Amino acid sequence: MSQLVSKMAPPSATATTTPPPASNGKLHSLPPSTAKNKPTSPPPTDPAIPAWVQPDLNRLLRVEHNPGSFASRSLSLVTLPAGATFARINSPTPATVAYTSVQAGRDLHIELNSDLVYINHSCDPTLIFDMQRWEVRVNPDREAGLREGDELTFFYPSTEWAMAQPFDCLCGSTQCKGRISGAKDMRLDVLDAYWLNKHIEDLLADKAGMAA
Ligand SMILES: [Zn+2]
Repeated sequence: MSQLVSKMAPPSATATTTPPPASNGKLHSLPPSTAKNKPTSPPPTDPAIPAWVQPDLNRLLRVEHNPGSFASRSLSLVTLPAGATFARINSPTPATVAYTSVQAGRDLHIELNSDLVYINHSCDPTLIFDMQRWEVRVNPDREAGLREGDELTFFYPSTEWAMAQPFDCLCGSTQCKGRISGAKDMRLDVLDAYWLNKHIEDLLADKAGMAA
């Protein structure tokens, strides 16, 4: 699957090689010499401690920075069952609505400040972003779960009421919804098929109440 638009770096950002580990998620704050030539050693890990317990995105996902704008994607390095915790959202900062931000409440938008920002939208997503529990889980409706090598995706209207940059989805799913601009523009029977965050459910209830 591929999309034209993702929550990723703007076109001006140069996509070169995968950044080194232990970047603390701050992809663009690394000194160039460190980023290109001197991959630092990852922090000590023990295979007995799963990466989703000891947060370490370098063990959970691999970001592909493809040539051209809006062409990055991220692939899973782990296999997990449906509903399992994939990662915790542990470095958010409050933000204004942007193509990289994630809505975490009625009036709260955050920047992820980590490689989670490279998780694309799909209409048949592998993951959900639960912004009440601040964690990313394998889509509970995905019977096959998440497999190593799968593209990591979530359904952007499950967090976003009104997106900063609507786009035409090219996820290739038979369930593809086409234009994605946020939950506010989608039919209830379409949204019904998806896991949604509470703030989206609340905003939908408000909208239904106003229409009644
Ligand atoms: Zn789609």
